[in-house]
Amino acid sequence: MKVAIFGTRKYDLDSLQDANPEGSGLEFTFIDARLDKYTAQLADGHDAVCIFVNDTCDAEVVKSLHQHGVKYIALRCAGFNNVDLVATTKHALQVVRVPAYSPSAVAEFAVGMILTVIRKYHKAYNRVREGNFLLDGLLGFNLTGKTVGVIGTGKIGLLTGKILSKGFDCRVLAYDPYPSKEAENYGISYVPTLEKLLGEADIVTLHCPLNEHTNYLINDITLGQMKKGVVLVNTSRGGLIDTDALIRALKSGHVGAVGLDVYEKESSYFFIDSSAKIIQDDNFARLLSFYNVYMTGHQAFLTREALQNIADTTISNLKELEASGTSVNLVQ
Ligand code: NAD
Repeated sequence: MKVAIFGTRKYDLDSLQDANPEGSGLEFTFIDARLDKYTAQLADGHDAVCIFVNDTCDAEVVKSLHQHGVKYIALRCAGFNNVDLVATTKHALQVVRVPAYSPSAVAEFAVGMILTVIRKYHKAYNRVREGNFLLDGLLGFNLTGKTVGVIGTGKIGLLTGKILSKGFDCRVLAYDPYPSKEAENYGISYVPTLEKLLGEADIVTLHCPLNEHTNYLINDITLGQMKKGVVLVNTSRGGLIDTDALIRALKSGHVGAVGLDVYEKESSYFFIDSSAKIIQDDNFARLLSFYNVYMTGHQAFLTREALQNIADTTISNLKELEASGTSVNLVQ
């Protein structure tokens, strides 16, 4: 099976090559460019494409892939919001994903992000390097005893809640339309409505998927339901937050601090060296300018363990598809 790997970074190449022994029957073509309507033709002659979170796989791209003979789309991530599943069904393309590569990687990063914004590690790092050892402006607050609201208690949300409850003695409240039986053992209590969670939480952390129900889950109304000075952390998907509304809430001082590993229009900037580029997205530039906003470039997943799991699962998904025409990790 020939597989075109789009959006290849060096760490993808290394981990996929290491996980694919010679003679496995899988032949990889590593392509730097992301998949979109212009690059889809590079998949010509391949049975499968392998893509990540910011590749474009809309109806036009799916049609083009189909015309170039592609049969399978292997996501090397969990979320599949960038794939048009109506189009893949129409053109009989099968889609597989990596449902869990390392929930701990993201949960640990989310907790780190909470600590960073409430204790201002990022500001202290820069200040100390410039020889400024003043503590003014670095006042934080204790995490112990605070109420944290976890939105979405799947694999990542549960672990995040567990670290905060067992490790920091936080009161962890959760909202999820499909509550998990494990939550209680992890020290997490459900509240019946999102509004109740938002009204009680000192810190809100997002761990639900992006779909038509959760798009702009955090908007003017839900931000207004949060406590003044709330800390908001998003390591899930950028589209969960209406950035215009968040900027309004930051400017009014209603939101105290924000940690973002994802941004709704991240695809123009993330996973690319944009340091010599003028940022054209004014909302993105505005977010970067707030002293109390800390951003990273979709990095939460990036651990050695996660990359190995992504490579192993992607390869086994493709082999399953080739051998049986189906896979345990089929999206549809
Ligand atoms: P999961 O599927 O195990 O859990 C998602 C949970 O969200 C489920 O329990 C579901 O019931 C719940 N949910 C659905 N709709 C909801 C709503 N409206 N309100 C509250 N909860 C809702 O997913 P996971 O593995 O825990 O991953 C969570 C998200 O993290 C993924 O969707 C992905 O977007 C993101 N993610 C980000 C990174 C990163 O590097 N930043 C890495 C991996 C995953």
